[in-house]
Amino acid sequence: MAPRPPLTGVDLALGLINTVDQLDTPPDFLVDHARLQRFFVWAGYPAAAERCRPDDLPWVVALRDRLAAAIDADEARAATILNEVVGASRAAPALERATHGWTIWYGPPHDEGAAFLAAATAVPLMQLLATGDWGRLGRCAASPCCCVYIDRSRNRSRRYCCQLCANRVSQAAARRRRRSEAAPDAG
Ligand SMILES: [Zn+2]
Repeated sequence: MAPRPPLTGVDLALGLINTVDQLDTPPDFLVDHARLQRFFVWAGYPAAAERCRPDDLPWVVALRDRLAAAIDADEARAATILNEVVGASRAAPALERATHGWTIWYGPPHDEGAAFLAAATAVPLMQLLATGDWGRLGRCAASPCCCVYIDRSRNRSRRYCCQLCANRVSQAAARRRRRSEAAPDAG
């Protein structure tokens, strides 16, 4: 099986933020070093999984919580948080060969360990702000889930983080309909 391409850009940021998932037990996936390594492998960065150290865990969790706070904030506050995150990182733009042409990678390199995660997640969120697309970020409306999604639809109609959540809501609505149809008419 060919390894899938690594998550990049906003998808990597959302992958990190959504390591808190209210439908999981426990809701926070990042509870120990082994889980942190599994996150890096899942995201497509096996070298980072190998190189990351146990004391990276609190740093990654703090980064995740900062990004989540930015998403829940207004634009001015979000900009401040993202500037702080990138300012504290060793971010330096560098061109890298991609499948088609070139891409700009904001360092440090991901094969050095966990540190790449700050700029790799915060810069794409900065770009969303800069292009006026910040409003495309939302939190799933299928309570108790509150995972973050990006709405790439033309008419910005997305409300759920995934198809499972959309199905959960439509099944609950169908159950409510059936119950109200079965109840004796109160009118
Ligand atoms: Zn959801």
